[in-house]
Amino acid sequence: MCSSIRAGASTIANEDSLHQEKYVLVIHGGAGTILKKNMTPQKEAAYTAGLRDALNAGYKAIQAGKSSLDAVEATIRVLEDNPLFNAGKGAVFTHDGRNEMDAAIMNGKTLEAGSVAGVSTIRNPITAARAVMEKSEHVMMTGRGAEQFAKEAGLEIVDPSYFRTQERWEGLQKALREDSIKSKLDHSYSPAGKLGIENIDNKFGTVGAVALDKAGNLAAGTSTGGMTNKKYGRVGDAPIIGAGTYANNNTVAISCTGWGEFFIRNVVAHDLSALMEYKGLTVQEAGKAVIDKVGKSGGNGGLIALDKEGNAALPFNTEGMYRGMVTADGKITIEIYK
Ligand code: ASP
Repeated sequence: MCSSIRAGASTIANEDSLHQEKYVLVIHGGAGTILKKNMTPQKEAAYTAGLRDALNAGYKAIQAGKSSLDAVEATIRVLEDNPLFNAGKGAVFTHDGRNEMDAAIMNGKTLEAGSVAGVSTIRNPITAARAVMEKSEHVMMTGRGAEQFAKEAGLEIVDPSYFRTQERWEGLQKALREDSIKSKLDHSYSPAGKLGIENIDNKFGTVGAVALDKAGNLAAGTSTGGMTNKKYGRVGDAPIIGAGTYANNNTVAISCTGWGEFFIRNVVAHDLSALMEYKGLTVQEAGKAVIDKVGKSGGNGGLIALDKEGNAALPFNTEGMYRGMVTADGKITIEIYK
């Protein structure tokens, strides 16, 4: 019975001429140790406003009949431009004191995808990911090559200093101090230490969006500065299709946030889709299953997932996750804590 429901719905999903009124946009602004007791009312209001601005940008696109891809890109650009979030301006620093960003986007209708990794000069990495998808024959480009490609595609290129914020710089200094104290005190095995990422307890702050448009098409996108104090050349899960980002009209669109190494090893986004496709799980069941698996393997984080009928799941195993949703009636919901 399940499969016939799926087959029926995917026919609708593939007919762009058919309009369905259950369009939805779901976003996250990162998961982590986000506790109300550590939040000032001003900070909480700023994050809420940032999430609301992003939802409004995407909703405007989707309501005007634009594609879920357009909505995802528009939403993520707003979050990338907002220094509060760890993507674009305000990205965290690497161990070497640089901002190296990753982003990916995927079209659930065609299964086309694009991503960039380790870029430092592209103002909006999500737009570069989309350009890779639409203007090249490749899926993923890294570092200098990706930057060159973005420049040739006419995207906005900025000086690397554009991404710097004082708060993130201080975050790195704190991580470096903790690093050196830890290495003096503790030589025993620690998965975090092994990765050179000691401040796993901090909020991660990656951004992501998943959308279902009026034509019934799903899309997903994720953008991040990665993790504070990451080593040179480290790439997280966000730009890896099937790990941090995935969309398929037959199942679900997903964007993840959290400790990337665990999301890569558990191939989280595609695993969620596969649980729905092969086992007939609902988006909530599959979302919970994959986050539980991340937790069991020692990782933490969360994700947003939206199925082809507009049902959303937003599971996380951290203290909080910045998250929001807007439905076709324009109703916005924003949450931060557990
Ligand atoms: N998942 C990202 C990474 O590992 C970090 C995050 O979600 O904040 O690069």
